[in-house]
Amino acid sequence: MSRVILASHNHKKLEELRRTFAAADSSVEVVGLHEVARYPEPAETGRTFVENALIKARAAAERTGLPALADDSGIEVDALNRMPGIRSARWSGPRADDATNLQLLLDQTFDLPADRRSARFVCAMAFVDPDGTEVTKVATMEGRIIDEARGTNGFGYDPMFVPDAQLGELTSAQMTADEKDAISHRGQAVRAIVPVVVRHLVG
Ligand code: IMP
Repeated sequence: MSRVILASHNHKKLEELRRTFAAADSSVEVVGLHEVARYPEPAETGRTFVENALIKARAAAERTGLPALADDSGIEVDALNRMPGIRSARWSGPRADDATNLQLLLDQTFDLPADRRSARFVCAMAFVDPDGTEVTKVATMEGRIIDEARGTNGFGYDPMFVPDAQLGELTSAQMTADEKDAISHRGQAVRAIVPVVVRHLVG
């Protein structure tokens, strides 16, 4: 049985990754950060999603000796020069949470005309093996932001984001987890990197 560590404290991400490895019919076991000895986590000093995902995966591989996966994600609003971008999680300050971040982005964009509301979620996944192998995959979910919050599923900026990849006007917070996974930046990035990891570890 090969093992890979996911450098994240988010249990939903861990479960999603385990489901995707299981669907790939692989013998890879995914270990969470809570299952290994604690180590000081690196500052996310990168300028891109890929750089930050690599920083987290390299630290996990170095500290645990295990092959490691890490992700970094956020929302880019074209009219804000693609911000919040890599600052999505801390957009409303050091004590930011999902609710304050969402409200700030709603306030910053409430008067944008319909033709300037394009946005996307971005997810970078990085795989780092202690043998020196490094692979990254990036995926996006294109859509637009609306001027109100709708729906209670998902997290973060989901209530104000309407994905293009649907016939209706649902926000990603009005979709089921399966519907969102099928089109989301994270779902696509995970499905892209899992076969790479399986080939590398299992052959
Ligand atoms: P992280 O990569 O898990 O740290 O996420 C960064 C931040 O981007 C989150 O705190 C959210 O604010 C935002 N974000 C990333 N992915 C999503 C998503 O699928 N829905 C809503 N917000 C997201």
